[in-house]
Amino acid sequence: MSIISKDISKAVQLLNAEELVAIPTETVYGLAGNIYSEKAIKRIFETKKRPFFNPLIVHIPSFGMISDIVSDLPEKAKLLADAFWPGPLTLVLKKNQNIPDLITAGKDTVAVRIPNHPTTLMLLEQLDFPLAAPSANPFGSISPTTAEHVNNYFKNDIKMVLDGGPCQRGIESTIIGFENGEPIIYRLGSTSKEAIENVVGPIQIKNKKEIAPDAPGMLDRHYAPVTKTILTDNLSEALQQHQGKQIGLLLFNSKIENDAVAYTIELSTSNNLEEAASKLYDALHELDKQNLDLIIAERLPDYGLGTSINDRLQRATVRA
Ligand code: AMP
Ligand code: MG
Repeated sequence: MSIISKDISKAVQLLNAEELVAIPTETVYGLAGNIYSEKAIKRIFETKKRPFFNPLIVHIPSFGMISDIVSDLPEKAKLLADAFWPGPLTLVLKKNQNIPDLITAGKDTVAVRIPNHPTTLMLLEQLDFPLAAPSANPFGSISPTTAEHVNNYFKNDIKMVLDGGPCQRGIESTIIGFENGEPIIYRLGSTSKEAIENVVGPIQIKNKKEIAPDAPGMLDRHYAPVTKTILTDNLSEALQQHQGKQIGLLLFNSKIENDAVAYTIELSTSNNLEEAASKLYDALHELDKQNLDLIIAERLPDYGLGTSINDRLQRATVRA
């Protein structure tokens, strides 16, 4: 029997029994458990093979619950929550005492957001606790944007994937921390830097491994296909260099006619960065299934979601 189901009440039952359920969000599918259940949270780390020093994001259904999670809300955090919740923006804030250390990796801060997906909002409203939900993939691999992706990874490990269709945004949330009340981007994601700056003014990015070595999305290699992948500004040169290989292309909106290319995916036919983000991980899953020697990805324009997509592609191309 398939573990994929649309039955929200079954998900409620499982989560109440300290089991894990994979849940849909607008960014990627999450592997969810009760933040107050040590058993559930340990299983999240075990199932993903995620190191314990990497903290989890807490998902809540409404702004009213924020005071259960955080002890301090800077003015600019409130502005950002007002502007983007529910939505793909995570705020890292001083934690409330009752938030378990397992969730925050022992830090005095906690990451929190309200996801924008009708199924998961309904689910959260029926629970007496928030959900910790990192992406529902083994640590380091390509994030899941459909129930089938999760099923392929974890059908033997979890009892249920709550099916909410393909994720609309398709890349992870943007993460914002605060230093002296001022916001800083810790991880690029589905909410663009430009959109954030429209709300709080110019903002710095600290998206680098050396600045935040403990954040999984910021490791050099992450979101990676099994197939060797390279990122290029010059497609014809890259094709020239890799003659004789079985090549898959991940294009933004270029057209390439080349006999050496075995498989091509175009992320947008209309130069649309939102569309490209929503298709990115499914395209990587698809290319990874084709028995290719090499995936060549075309770098996207460096603005809006293009910057976030390039960040993911960069991490998909670093070899372990
Ligand atoms: P994921 O849910 O797998 O997309 O990853 C969760 C991300 O949240 C990690 O990459 C961390 O960067 C970030 N995060 C969670 N909690 C904290 C925290 N207390 N301080 C800094 N970053 C955090
Ligand atoms: Mg992840």
